Amino acid sequence: MSDYTPLDEISTIRDAVKAGFASGKTRNVAYRKAQLLQLAHMVKDNAEQMVSSLREDLSRPRLEAYFLELGAVLKEAMIAYKKVDKWAAPEGVPFSITTSAMFGKVYKQPKGAVLIIGPFNYPYWCTLTPLIGAIAAGCTAVVKPSELSSASMKLLVELLPKYLDQDCYRIVTGAIPETTKLLELQWDHIMYTGSGMVGKIVAAAAAKHLTPITLELGGKSPVIVDKSADVTLTARRVLWAKMANAGQTCVAPDYILVAKDKHDALVEALLETYEQFYPKAEGGAAESTSFARLVNQRHFERVQKVLDRTKGEIVAGGETNATTKYIAPTIVKNVSLDDSLMEEELFGPVLPIIPVDSFQHAVDYVNTRDHPLALYLFCNDHKVKASVLEQTQSGMAMVNDLIISAGVEGLGFGGIGAVGMGAHSDKTGFEQFTHRRSTIHVPAWVDLLMKFRFPPYSSRKESTALALLMPSVPRGLSGTSSFNWLLWGPLIAIVGAAAGVLTKKQAISSGK
Ligand code: NAD
Repeated sequence: MSDYTPLDEISTIRDAVKAGFASGKTRNVAYRKAQLLQLAHMVKDNAEQMVSSLREDLSRPRLEAYFLELGAVLKEAMIAYKKVDKWAAPEGVPFSITTSAMFGKVYKQPKGAVLIIGPFNYPYWCTLTPLIGAIAAGCTAVVKPSELSSASMKLLVELLPKYLDQDCYRIVTGAIPETTKLLELQWDHIMYTGSGMVGKIVAAAAAKHLTPITLELGGKSPVIVDKSADVTLTARRVLWAKMANAGQTCVAPDYILVAKDKHDALVEALLETYEQFYPKAEGGAAESTSFARLVNQRHFERVQKVLDRTKGEIVAGGETNATTKYIAPTIVKNVSLDDSLMEEELFGPVLPIIPVDSFQHAVDYVNTRDHPLALYLFCNDHKVKASVLEQTQSGMAMVNDLIISAGVEGLGFGGIGAVGMGAHSDKTGFEQFTHRRSTIHVPAWVDLLMKFRFPPYSSRKESTALALLMPSVPRGLSGTSSFNWLLWGPLIAIVGAAAGVLTKKQAISSGK
């Protein structure tokens, strides 16, 4: 494909961003802030073009483009811009009577030249949010967007060089051969977002160079609806979160586990909401400008096939059109746990509803599967909430709402187990690309206190070492504390005071 980066140029591009890192310019936080602002301007200036590209790739409604993607990227860029000085500042260590004189500090060093690989479903958020983390951390980067959302990919190819420093931030386009070539090269970190199957390929390639990775993968995110839930609110929020981007959202609710005695009420509320969202009188979802399409024929057929095999009862939607890659928002009730819809991540606009005996039954089922990326709970009972959150594990958990936690400042976005490792968004993005370098700077006089470490060893030195190095341990199951505070307490206090005085003297004499 002529739109793809020639294979023989890929290592040159990698070498260029390595050289960009070696030049040292990204160490400067003011430079990083200037690049973050450039990225924010890139989104602001070209938002309407980005909206058009999302429409071309996914028939994404304009509001969804802003709400779920462009606004979120802009917010990330501005948070990083405002906070990077603080994030990048060295951190002191807690006071310790034995080690404070060594001036321990953690310096936040950028890892180096990093690779960011993105999926098709959120082509801007899933590439630019990691890039924001990389820029903030002081890394240089190559971004490889998905070839499936080709209009968005092409726009990124056009825009990135206009706004970002080409010595440090580059784009490579392509499919499997180009990504394979990228993965053969050594990187200082790889952040990959996409399917678990390709995630394993990325992890194996990274292992060859012992490269650290962040994996943002997909899975089946359950919704547990307790008998205490408000079904109208549940129906409105779940149907929106499921059908946004035609179900092609990594944290889309995949299926509902609902308490048996709420099943019918929830289905009824979902049907009412369905009519409000996609009114029949206006042509339903097929004519709606508020509903996207599947990205390509392969994904269309994948979803259609699982839908064809379901033994559940389709109560809304079910219509499909291969030419327009349209699968109607579809609600399937009375689905059993061994149904076709429960095999893989659906990643399409199909919502299975499974009646369960109780919230505990739902929890037990969720715990038989891989940990989900997001776990959703609808309930108004604090005990149930505490119990579900306590008994389950997931990348993220949301109570009485879905998807939008990524928009909450201070929260990271990431998985656990089969849905990934590491996180991005906000400070977590900065942290993924940062090495916390532990340093000490030890004054000469510390040898007065630590002389015991130098040979020849003696029993006196040993006693001093034991007194300093073997602190008391609180009484536990296995016995009593072995430390004699009456004996060693006053000595430690004297040593600590002496260390304090000497540290102060040194600071005064060195003018600090
Ligand atoms: P995908 O794995 O098919 O592709 C992702 C990237 O990997 C693309 O850039 C593609 O070119 C590359 N790729 C594909 N096959 C490859 C191979 N064999 N070797 C090397 N590289 C290869 O994923 P997708 O279909 O674009 O995205 C959908 C998946 O991503 C869903 O499972 C979804 O849940 C997940 N996802 C996860 C998150 C998250 O944050 N956890 C976000 C968005 C999407």
